[in-house]
Amino acid sequence: MASITLKNLNKIYPNGFVSVKDVSLTIEDGEFVTFHGPSGCGKSTILRMIGGLEDISSGQIYLGDELLNDILPRDRKLAMAFQNYRLYGYLSAYENIALGLKLRNMPRNVIDTRVKTAVKFFGIEDVLNKKVTELTDAQKQKIALCRATVCHPKVLLVDEDFAHGSDELRADMLQDIQRINKELNLTVLYVTNNYEEATSLDGKLILMKDGQITNQ
Ligand code: ADP
Ligand code: MG
Repeated sequence: MASITLKNLNKIYPNGFVSVKDVSLTIEDGEFVTFHGPSGCGKSTILRMIGGLEDISSGQIYLGDELLNDILPRDRKLAMAFQNYRLYGYLSAYENIALGLKLRNMPRNVIDTRVKTAVKFFGIEDVLNKKVTELTDAQKQKIALCRATVCHPKVLLVDEDFAHGSDELRADMLQDIQRINKELNLTVLYVTNNYEEATSLDGKLILMKDGQITNQ
């Protein structure tokens, strides 16, 4: 089950600033959920706590029945697509996509099948052997999404800074993450401070202000 449950979630930074205040929310398996609100309202903090990149001050986060609070980020069945793609320029597209699978000691033939299935899904089979430095931004973005999905996560977390280069890259990314949701059946959590974008997407819309959800 890839539902996500947040129970009375709080984040207090060491300087005393409360960026997430008592947020409780249930996201069903397979939902596409968009978090929208002004810059600084706590959207990224919530995503980072779910991903395990930020400590939880109090409250609980569950993936299905599993309490995530004390589980290491790499052991959570989640994938994250954040800023700058974080690709390794000196490695090929193939090696970048395969990296997470290699770190999990998957057999070579399984890795090969998964990488090839992923590039086919995104229509970029022709770039597999190119170095990342030879790719266009649109191709790099798709490579990053391949890398996010090959480990077969249950949930994909996408922050708005993932696609920030141009309107075209952003439109591409939105199309891709909606396909990931519908065709690969991943639960997707997407963060944006763009109102038009937030209201144009199918799925559940969560509105936030000052660390709280305002439409519950
Ligand atoms: P959003 O993604 O909605 O723009 P964030 O979740 O990044 O907002 O941040 C929420 C609030 O927490 C902001 O006011 C931000 O300044 C504050 N904040 C973020 N990181 C820290 C930190 N390390 N220490 C103190 N305050 C922080
Ligand atoms: Mg943010």
